[in-house]
Amino acid sequence: MRDLGTPVLDDHLHLDPRHARGVEAVKDFARSGGTHLLVVNKPSWHLGVEADVGEDFRAVFEETLDVVADASEELRGTAWPVLGVHPTLISRLVGERDFTPDEAAELMCAGLDVAAEYAADGAAVALKSGRPHYDVSEAVWEASNRVLRHALERAAETGVALQLHTEATDDLTDVEAWAEDAGQPPERVVKHYASGECAGVTPSVMCEKGYLTEAVESGEPFLMETDYVDDPDRPGAVMGPKTVPRRVDWLLENGHEEAVRHAHVETPDAVYGIDTEGTLA
Ligand SMILES: [Zn+2]
Repeated sequence: MRDLGTPVLDDHLHLDPRHARGVEAVKDFARSGGTHLLVVNKPSWHLGVEADVGEDFRAVFEETLDVVADASEELRGTAWPVLGVHPTLISRLVGERDFTPDEAAELMCAGLDVAAEYAADGAAVALKSGRPHYDVSEAVWEASNRVLRHALERAAETGVALQLHTEATDDLTDVEAWAEDAGQPPERVVKHYASGECAGVTPSVMCEKGYLTEAVESGEPFLMETDYVDDPDRPGAVMGPKTVPRRVDWLLENGHEEAVRHAHVETPDAVYGIDTEGTLA
């Protein structure tokens, strides 16, 4: 097992022990020097859940909590869950299940309410929401933003962070303003799948060297992620679980100790309230 001399956190990945590698992927991560994970629940329909009411998401969340417990066993550090409703569900509900955008938003908000129950109990360190990354109708866009704002309110009430899946952008100052309205500190809102920088919220940077260089040079808080999807049908679709430790190694070789500390100790603490040093065996 490699020890890179620092906590190494992958801020966003998925694990699917039922259909794919599950904890085997965590072993790869740990062997390469990875120590901590934020595990995001897979989209509900990938686990065979076609939700009709908010409570239907509970099975998805429970499955995630189970795999997170198993993942923690394999780590010198800890894995934590991030629970929520994938924003592209709205297209599935409207396009394939005859929901109106309003009905879809209502169901998605109800699912987020269940995720917030887990967060309130301390079982999740963040909620997950967002809006589609592709063109949608005005009605779907507005409904999606209502869901996003609902998630901001729930995150603020429960005192947890919020991860967002959004369109490709380096400017989420609209969300920053909504966060302030909701009482959620904008720095505790994370744009997942970010390139190097994102105005208004904290970027969780995809581990491309170019993006990381930009993040380091910005001097702004950032996190690092792979968005490993653990999907046997899409083996090459994303970065593998060894990528964050390898990129940390590369940053350290290039003298970026301070940036590594920002991304793996200070920013995780500021955003999620997690102590990656204190939880390292
Ligand atoms: Zn993801």
